[in-house]
Amino acid sequence: MHLSSAIVFRPLKGLYELASELYRKFGEVLRPQLKTSGFIHYSALMGNSHAHLERAQLSTKPINSKTDVLVIGCGVAGCSAALKAASQGLSVRMIASATDPLDCNSYWAQGGIIYKGKEDSRDLLAQDIKYAGSFKCDDSAVDHLTNCGPASVDELLIQTAKVPFDKDSDGNLSLCLEASHNRPRIIHWKDHTGKAITEHIQQAVHNSPNIELVCGTTAVDLAISQGPTGNCCVGVHAIKSNGELVTFLASATVLATGGLGDIYENTSNPKSARGDGFALAMRAGASLKDMEYVQFHPTTLFIPGERRFLLTEALRGQGARLFNTNGERFAHKYHELEELAPRDVVSRMIVEEMKITCSDHVLLDISHLPAKFLVERFPSIYKYCLERGFDLTKDRIPVVPAAHYFCGGVQADVDGKTNLPGLFAAGEVSCTGLHGANRLASTSLLEGLVWGRTIGTNLVNFVASRQEENRTAEPFLHYGNQVPDKNEVSTLLDKLRKTMWENVGVVRSKETLTRALKDIMALKCRADDVYHRSRLTPETVNLRNAVSVGAVIVQAALRNKASVGCHFRTDGVVFPYKYETNKLESDAP
Ligand SMILES: Cc1cc2nc3c(=O)[nH]c(=O)nc-3n(C[C@H](O)[C@H](O)[C@H](O)COP(=O)(O)OP(=O)(O)OC[C@H]3O[C@@H](n4cnc5c(N)ncnc54)[C@H](O)[C@@H]3O)c2cc1C
Repeated sequence: MHLSSAIVFRPLKGLYELASELYRKFGEVLRPQLKTSGFIHYSALMGNSHAHLERAQLSTKPINSKTDVLVIGCGVAGCSAALKAASQGLSVRMIASATDPLDCNSYWAQGGIIYKGKEDSRDLLAQDIKYAGSFKCDDSAVDHLTNCGPASVDELLIQTAKVPFDKDSDGNLSLCLEASHNRPRIIHWKDHTGKAITEHIQQAVHNSPNIELVCGTTAVDLAISQGPTGNCCVGVHAIKSNGELVTFLASATVLATGGLGDIYENTSNPKSARGDGFALAMRAGASLKDMEYVQFHPTTLFIPGERRFLLTEALRGQGARLFNTNGERFAHKYHELEELAPRDVVSRMIVEEMKITCSDHVLLDISHLPAKFLVERFPSIYKYCLERGFDLTKDRIPVVPAAHYFCGGVQADVDGKTNLPGLFAAGEVSCTGLHGANRLASTSLLEGLVWGRTIGTNLVNFVASRQEENRTAEPFLHYGNQVPDKNEVSTLLDKLRKTMWENVGVVRSKETLTRALKDIMALKCRADDVYHRSRLTPETVNLRNAVSVGAVIVQAALRNKASVGCHFRTDGVVFPYKYETNKLESDAP
């Protein structure tokens, strides 16, 4: 682990301290009540401004029991941890902010998940991961993924969830090639692999008698217990869609809240990728790592005014080519792997060509492949583009880069442990060091699956070791009760997204980052004020988190003066690396 680049959050000053002071004042009264219950319900909030704090009242009402495990998030990482823990007899509660459990990044994954190719090996996969990650990957994380990947897919996706991955004419799993992979080794379900995986794995969760899934419940802050040996995580304080505040207590908490694409103006992610988990963890004292590494996907459908839609890397894996708006191919000018160069390289070449041609997009063309193959292999993309006037089998499709994946996150080791006892992290919210400075295509579903399974496996011993402990949660305090102004909240979020896109995007510099930091610090004062004076809603919670996370990304990007992986500074020293290619052909006709 690159411990040197870890950031330890310092709690917010001002109102946070005021809240702590209040806790010290009321703590003695609250403590005995909290001890009696595993699940605490705060039904009444407090006065409407800081001047009314003395009117504060806090009622606790036990409405449910403590579980062995609490999982926050029900994407591939959360479901894997839950299934594995539950299969060993642990009681598991999962919460998700989205009301529809399918509303997560996992559902939208298109290309597929790494399995194992013919004439493939762990070493070849490790080589590809490290190259894409600019040799900044953590060796133990790469070893863990390459060791446990195929077994995790077999156990959780094929045997337990029965995901119907595509097969070839011989009845074997169909393997495809993606950018920067030396072998076709990615299994898929048409061009919407995430849908098949998420639906089937959530069905398995539903079938498990040991797992309770509670949707429409947003984690606000981790529940912390202070002890003589330091703090530990004992669950989460959350808000339900009806405004009720609840505390879920558990022996172990697994953070699996996904990524943060939605803090950027242009993103391939759904709105639910809001960055909450990073902010929750840092407020609780967990370390964050590699926060400057935001990955931009080179090819999302460009329609002015519309949310970006991903055009999977598998298209380029199958032979799609990039053209500028003058009709010229350009990838060969920038990299020996041309369109199959790592994502950061392709994103930057597109930005450069847009600049050269004074255009707001470039074009992706796969029309040279047989129409029947394209329609069968990429049905969702074909349909989506056709509905918007672009025929994949005939037309060149306008594309631009967009924020896609977050390589940094909550620092976690190969067992998914964070530095905060009781807190584990899996999936996109975590930073295991696997991706280094850039992620290899189709590794993230697998990372969520592998680390979810590892955490779930190890939780049996961890939960047993905490059985004797009778830890209590520090109370959650929130005083605001004004109705939040929805316009104000969305305007502040939009400003954040705009400054992140314009100044902390595919290409940055000291100048743009300094500008972003100034903007975000001003936004942070306003966002914190909205949060503290308003009653809690998922939107005010998100605004506060998004701005905090944006600030940390900018600070990390300013600190890292080298251009490496997906962190590219025009004023940066370029990090050197070399690549040996050893490629086989793709399965394209
Ligand atoms: C369009 C697209 C295509 C992709 N294609 C691929 C691909 O082909 N292959 C690949 O490997 N990867 C792909 N990825 C990346 C991959 O999908 C994600 O990295 C991965 O699915 C993340 O899984 P996760 O379980 O960590 O998070 P998610 O699946 O995003 O789940 C996060 C969960 O956390 C919940 N949550 C968030 N905040 C809170 C809160 N405050 N309180 C409670 N719950 C909360 C959400 O409701 C959700 O249930 C793609 C991503 C996108 C967007």
